[in-house]
Amino acid sequence: MKQRSRARRLVWTARLTVAAPFEERFPFRSTEAIERAQRRRLRESVDHAFVHVPYYRETGKRLGLGPGDFQAAGDLGKLPLIERDRLQADPQYFVSEAEPLDNHLELQTGGSTGEPITFFRHRSSLYERMLTFQRSEPVNAKLTGRRWRRRIAMIAPASSSTTDLNRKVGRQRFWKGVRTVVITIPLFDPLPEIEAQIDAFRPDVVSGYGSAIEAIYNDLATSDREFHRPSVAVYAADSLSDQVRRLLTGLGIEVLSVYQAVETPTIAWECDRHSGLHHNLDVCPVRIVDDDGSELPGGESGRVVVSNLVNRATMLLNYGLGDLATKLPDPCPCGRTLPLLSHPQGRTSEWMLSRSGAPIHPQTMRSILRNFDEIRRYQLIQEQPGKLRVVVVAAPGADRAAVAEAIAARAGELGEPLDARVEFSETLSRAESGKVRTILRAETGE
Ligand SMILES: [Zn+2]
Repeated sequence: MKQRSRARRLVWTARLTVAAPFEERFPFRSTEAIERAQRRRLRESVDHAFVHVPYYRETGKRLGLGPGDFQAAGDLGKLPLIERDRLQADPQYFVSEAEPLDNHLELQTGGSTGEPITFFRHRSSLYERMLTFQRSEPVNAKLTGRRWRRRIAMIAPASSSTTDLNRKVGRQRFWKGVRTVVITIPLFDPLPEIEAQIDAFRPDVVSGYGSAIEAIYNDLATSDREFHRPSVAVYAADSLSDQVRRLLTGLGIEVLSVYQAVETPTIAWECDRHSGLHHNLDVCPVRIVDDDGSELPGGESGRVVVSNLVNRATMLLNYGLGDLATKLPDPCPCGRTLPLLSHPQGRTSEWMLSRSGAPIHPQTMRSILRNFDEIRRYQLIQEQPGKLRVVVVAAPGADRAAVAEAIAARAGELGEPLDARVEFSETLSRAESGKVRTILRAETGE
């Protein structure tokens, strides 16, 4: 086994060496070339799925669909929308039988969004992951001024699916110690210890959950002591408030976000022009749909439905991820042709309820709260329909009474008014996974 993995690493190293420069240029290629790459991956995925994956075999038979019905990414909408609970209930139904199950890497998604799900990753998808990382490589090189031996501090739970995955990728990395030097700092270490480890390592890049980055730099910005400032902070998973983005930029730290999920390759990533996230539409095409599953035009916000065209273990085509996002119609000023997605705007499970029980988009409260520079971070807890508890971590010196009053007043003026009670706290509660969810429901205590 060991020998086989060494042989695999050699093959991957050779392939990566050839493919890496091509991959760096890929986002700049013509729309036709990018769509051609997408169609090729689509064809290969669909061909594989209809032969080897029980779910697609049976669905195809039931609906009279075959691989020939999928010529373009839009055709993926012909398949039923796979909901998360379906995958949860029967993970193996979606796994390719082309290889024994033991060949795959088994990942569990965090329990923060409810029940965890089991996802099988094909080993070669690790290679694909490394390859798509190359697309943002020029951005990282530019912002850090370092093409080689870039120092990266990853703040992550000691054990999570992403940590495990990164460890596996790390072991395979042919440029390990050459392109990047990486340390992992445990997310659950006390804040002063995390900060001390960053100071000692002096990274060019700090990466982690948005909430972890926020906690660290909120704390450091208000302390009197000197601290190491990385060139770039990269965050994924939970979000980063607009205020903290501004705070980081003010400290001279560029902020980049990456949109990914355990069930997908990198869906989209931010470049240094910060006008949205470049969508890797060839490896993970996204459809934005309304509540009935119909595709929405560019510029309109809706549910994110993905198709993972890379993985040959658990195969997910037309899978509802649960986030909300928008396809941005304008091209990015950086010159990359890969189109832009908005930052994902929270999970559909995070919609709030009005007094009458009507759903209220999470963006509604966000757009009120984002205007307060006095707010460092917040959490919304829906206590009952129409009633919210807003837990606020305030900036030092903020006039708390005035902030509380202004928030309550503006929430009360909404089309569907919300009764918002503001309270102040030093910290926000974290889910077991380590993520901080912005919107919680009091009933489930999630
Ligand atoms: Zn760009």
